[in-house]
Amino acid sequence: MILPTEAHATSATPLDLDLIRKYSIPGPRYTSYPTANQFTTELAPLALEQAISDDNRPGAGPVSLYFHLPFCETRCWFCGCNTVITKRSSAAGEYLDDLEREMRLTAPRLNRSRFVTQIHLGGGTPTFFPPDELRRLGALVREHFTLAPEVEFSVEVDPRRLTEDHVRALRDIGVNRASLGVQDTNPSVQLAIHRVQPQSLNVQAFAWLRAHGFASINVDLIYGLPLQTPETFKRTIDDVLTLGPDRLSVFSYAHVPWIKPAQKIFEDREQLPGPEEKLAMFVVAHEKLTAAGFIDIGLDHFARPDDSLALAQRAGTLHRNFQGYSTQSDASLYSFGISSISSTPDSYRQNHKTLPEWRAALDANQLPIERGLRLTAEDQRRRTIIMRLMCDRRLDFAALSKMIGIDFATSYATELASLDDLRADGIVTLSPGKLEVTTIGAPLLRVVAMRFDAHFIAAARRHAQAI
Ligand code: SF4
Repeated sequence: MILPTEAHATSATPLDLDLIRKYSIPGPRYTSYPTANQFTTELAPLALEQAISDDNRPGAGPVSLYFHLPFCETRCWFCGCNTVITKRSSAAGEYLDDLEREMRLTAPRLNRSRFVTQIHLGGGTPTFFPPDELRRLGALVREHFTLAPEVEFSVEVDPRRLTEDHVRALRDIGVNRASLGVQDTNPSVQLAIHRVQPQSLNVQAFAWLRAHGFASINVDLIYGLPLQTPETFKRTIDDVLTLGPDRLSVFSYAHVPWIKPAQKIFEDREQLPGPEEKLAMFVVAHEKLTAAGFIDIGLDHFARPDDSLALAQRAGTLHRNFQGYSTQSDASLYSFGISSISSTPDSYRQNHKTLPEWRAALDANQLPIERGLRLTAEDQRRRTIIMRLMCDRRLDFAALSKMIGIDFATSYATELASLDDLRADGIVTLSPGKLEVTTIGAPLLRVVAMRFDAHFIAAARRHAQAI
């Protein structure tokens, strides 16, 4: 059933709910391949430090930096991030001392001539850090790395913990993009998730960021939260559109109380919407945003047609990393702070997730790596296939064969044959030399990618043998 919507009168793209119901199964979001589930703590044979040296080969690409700033004053009960809840403001300075130690350990292993083209401050709440500490962080980054003149420098902002001084400090250190956590503007939903954030705070944050010249502002929303209905979520989107964002991320709430015990409270109160209501909220978001002229970039990301993400997608240069979609292709990612993940062309490295473990490694003058993976040549080929599919929604076999160094159609004939059901249902089209995900199939992009995921294929085979 293709949903006839008010949006059909506009540029909104249609959704086939029956297909979404039929195929949507839990699966990776492919911010990496292999996914973090495949990382191991058996680090010795991985030679991850060697992977950093190998990453400095002549002609190596640019560098992307991520800093995880984990502190929040209060816990939002839905939150799935790695956070440290504290009101102790001195925690920021102490943490920055440790970040400096981590930078001093890592930076000498990198070729200083490599430009940093992208920096992201994530959390937690980066604006938990007082303006002067943010300035100190900016100075440390410039001391240890070589920033490209046009570096794309972004920050996650909690409008409840933002002052104009923060915005000034962020601009002073070169930050030019912001992502605002809004989630939902309905007061009852906000009470239920323990995050009270009047719309006036969002308006104020936008006014400061625009006044200080931020080039692009993203808003994060979540659907599937307690007390949300398609009707209330529609009003949330209306509220957010009045702010004039350049991009939106509309995430599905992930209910994992066995990992995030704070989420248990939603079950006790029986306030969570059911799967059909949640699907209806996804439809509302998709309809309203595409009707308002936003491009559906894929996997819950929407951007204005003139935004760099939309331009990169049209040019076939979109990339995907741990922060989601990115315009910076071929950059190695070096990440700092607890739980952060770094990646080079043939390795992933994740830091210790707790402050004491991360600090203990720094005390011992060691890179604070807890888990990781060294990619095989086959992992690297599949990573290229899955990332091109996630970013371009199509595979051009000739171009792909050149990228992976072997003939794609011959080497992955079994995977291509496994798409028969998706082809019959109109999710993909296959023509000589080309695989394309259709407009109707776009919400199921992950399902197509899973067919090229060796770990998913192996698990499906084990499951089939078990029954
Ligand atoms: S402010 Fe952000 S990171 Fe902190 S608890 Fe709330 S959602 Fe999580």
